[in-house]
Amino acid sequence: MFDMMEATRLESLHLAQDPATGLKAIIAIHNSRLGPALGGCRYLPYPSHDAALRDAARLAQGMSYKAALAGLRQGGGKAVIIRSPHVNNRGELFEAFGRFVDSLGGAYITAVDSGTSSADMDCIAQYTRHVTSTTSGGDPSPHTALGVFSGIRASAQARLGSDDLEGLRVAIQGLGHVGYALAEHLAAAGAELLVSDIDPGKVQLAVEQLGARPVPNEALLTTPCDILAPCGLGGVLTSQVVGHLRCAAVAGAANNQLAQPEVADELEGRGILYAPDYVINSGGLIYVALQHQGEQLPTITAHLARIAERLTEVYAHAQADHLSPARIADKLAERILYGEYSGH
Ligand code: NAD
Repeated sequence: MFDMMEATRLESLHLAQDPATGLKAIIAIHNSRLGPALGGCRYLPYPSHDAALRDAARLAQGMSYKAALAGLRQGGGKAVIIRSPHVNNRGELFEAFGRFVDSLGGAYITAVDSGTSSADMDCIAQYTRHVTSTTSGGDPSPHTALGVFSGIRASAQARLGSDDLEGLRVAIQGLGHVGYALAEHLAAAGAELLVSDIDPGKVQLAVEQLGARPVPNEALLTTPCDILAPCGLGGVLTSQVVGHLRCAAVAGAANNQLAQPEVADELEGRGILYAPDYVINSGGLIYVALQHQGEQLPTITAHLARIAERLTEVYAHAQADHLSPARIADKLAERILYGEYSGH
């Protein structure tokens, strides 16, 4: 376990079990140099306790990097509640988790993640104030979409020499909470939209409301366009897909877009600019973190503008150092977190 902690530079691991509710939970705090660790709580079945520990550690590390590059006074953490096939009372389970979060005295702040909902956060909030994304907090997706929109502008500027989106062809995969809101911003800016979703109703809506052109799901990623915006699943950028891309830049909301880290170099090799996912999609985290700190909407919206500035900085370093933006983003995050960076 300590080898894994050392490998991910994890600060601390906290475990709790509660026979009365069936709670088996892990809280991983990766780095608290910038502030208390913030990160979602997953509620999923795991093949082993070891797999759950590794998931918590890996995701907590990702949150540290994301918060650092988002310019937040926040560290990275993640919680995992191991889901068993039989749960007597979901509400009581999350209340027990709330007591666990509270026992850490604010070192970890929890949020919605895979398998959890705002209603679960409301249960947690009965026992701790170190919780975000409750039902009263509002949906972070519009803020994520706004951040991605400004990141697309920054990417167009860096790759195509102008941030004017009028007439630019943007292909969006996935018209969910973030993808559809992004499509609305892009349509308002005059972009030409090519869209796909496994839900034909969402595609139909984008066609009728935004004048988007539908593209079959299997063709969207490789359709000719200026900007490709993956806003559905993660892992869509495989080596095979990258070989067939026909876009100038990839800039979308989906988490973990690169199937493997090396794919970033393959994109670079093909001259395709890649907006590191955790930088461009940090609007939701910014919203949740600043809202928890008591900031008002104008301050939050102003902070979202820094996403484009950060991406522009990442692209400039990438060009100067002949490295992919993904590697540069990691290096910049490590400089903020550990004071290490051996480049510009
Ligand atoms: P969502 O579930 O609301 O939307 C995802 C959409 O993608 C759905 O409409 C779904 O039908 C569609 N989809 C799934 N597989 C598809 C496929 N193969 N082809 C085409 N469409 C497909 O999720 P969301 O909240 O909009 O998030 C989208 C992505 O952005 C996810 O990867 C998420 O992790 C990431 N993200 C979201 C936020 C946020 O604030 N919601 C923040 C950061 C990152």
